[in-house]
Amino acid sequence: MKRVLIAVAVALALLAPTVVRAQSNAELIAADLDAWWAANFAERGLSYSSPRLEIVDQPGTNFCGFIDVFEGPAGYCATNRTVYLSTGFLSPDSITGVLPLISHEWGHHVQNLVDTGVSTPMEAELQADCFAGAFIQYATESDWISPAVGAMALQLTQSAGDVWWLVPADEAIHGSQSDRAIAFMTGLHGGLSVCGF
Ligand SMILES: [Zn+2]
Repeated sequence: MKRVLIAVAVALALLAPTVVRAQSNAELIAADLDAWWAANFAERGLSYSSPRLEIVDQPGTNFCGFIDVFEGPAGYCATNRTVYLSTGFLSPDSITGVLPLISHEWGHHVQNLVDTGVSTPMEAELQADCFAGAFIQYATESDWISPAVGAMALQLTQSAGDVWWLVPADEAIHGSQSDRAIAFMTGLHGGLSVCGF
């Protein structure tokens, strides 16, 4: 009887790793972003709902019905409220890569939930960069990322694009590098309220 119990215990120990799946850094960042936005909505008396996060690892995976997520590192689909991250461009565990991308895409989700006062795709892109800057400032102040990671996030914001669901992916709508840096720094130094939220 005792031997059987030991065998069961060993079997359970072997099974455990497959039952408890480790969260990627992308998922951890998403959870933090979600909580931060929920708190900011609550502060303003607005109701918030979370987007879904989908990490895609296969080319040919359509999102929003027609865009291949492997055309861009990340995207947000308004119709199914999903933030997409493509592992074709970066590992979901790369904090410096994932942080600016997901926090930018989360900004598009916020724009989808409430009127944030933007009227053109370019304004929406720059505001999403501003939102990303505000979140990264919060993350730096909370000590879970270092200022160096924040600085790298700025550089990536300047160079990275996403897939916008309204226009073809190759259209230049994200603004110039300096526009994007200014938007990011505005959020970084002034917080959400200067981004128009
Ligand atoms: Zn965008």
